[in-house]
Amino acid sequence: MAKWQYTKGLHDLGNGCFAWLQPDGSWGWSNAGLIADREQTLLVDTLFDLKLTAEMLGQMRAAVPAAESIGRLVNTHANGDHTFGNQLVKDAEIIASRACAEEMSELPAERLAAMEQNWRQLGEAGAFLHEVMGSKFKWDDVKNTLPTRVFDDELRLEVGDKAVLLKTVGPAHTKGDVLVHVPVDRTVFTGDILFVEGHPVLWAGPVDNWVAACDQILAWNVETVVPGHGPITDKKGVQAMKDYLLYIKAEARRRYDAGMPVFQAARDIALDRFAGWGDAERMVVNVASLYREFGSRQELDIMELFGQMGRFHAELKAKAGHGHAHRHAH
Ligand SMILES: [Zn+2]
Repeated sequence: MAKWQYTKGLHDLGNGCFAWLQPDGSWGWSNAGLIADREQTLLVDTLFDLKLTAEMLGQMRAAVPAAESIGRLVNTHANGDHTFGNQLVKDAEIIASRACAEEMSELPAERLAAMEQNWRQLGEAGAFLHEVMGSKFKWDDVKNTLPTRVFDDELRLEVGDKAVLLKTVGPAHTKGDVLVHVPVDRTVFTGDILFVEGHPVLWAGPVDNWVAACDQILAWNVETVVPGHGPITDKKGVQAMKDYLLYIKAEARRRYDAGMPVFQAARDIALDRFAGWGDAERMVVNVASLYREFGSRQELDIMELFGQMGRFHAELKAKAGHGHAHRHAH
């Protein structure tokens, strides 16, 4: 039996560390964390909208009275599913890497809300955004709430008597990814440096920074690893992410060198031992980013990438449906 259950809500990791999990970990269903000691609290990430974040804060306050007034919040990276609830803890000091803080202004909630409102006019990209996120989350009341304290390489904090290390490892998933390490509890909150049982999204790269981030976690004395999406894991989950990144890097390189177009390569790479992972349409973004690293000059904007993911997502669904029907025919 798994050590940790993958159920929605607050999970007590012991010694004042908590994880908030949101199955199934797909688009927008992110995890968060709370570190508490001696009346002080550090919240690790908020959620994709205000309702979800308010529910989480309510449960945290029921378990940890000191969380009534959250002293500090760290955003592990700039994506909305880790930051759009920030306004509900706006009296807290909001900490992020400098690169994360800069990136948070690039895709504000207002833009996502406008895209969701007009999704029918936005082609395949609009339809996909609506299907996987827009129809599930509410962005029209989210006010961009930016960090109030930034740092570059690392920042050491004390939460009560507990030492916490914030370590910048980006650009990797995004431009400013940060790991939150609690050495005394052998615990790390990875943000989206770790997706468990789901494909990661290589928005920024370079991929080698992401591999190095995995190596950093593997070098720490940690037992409990809270990913940005998916169930709580340990170093095995970190090793699997590293294996995936090295695998797709090598496979994409071979196809780039052979002159295969990017979206064809995304479909051509066998998913191999990662075939059970969710959100395989992210291969589109991953291969596009790798091609860019390899020297491709093809400019792909976010709408084109979402449109292509939508198309691939539909193909994968049709294939899965066909396989299902086929099995029943026997
Ligand atoms: Zn995320």
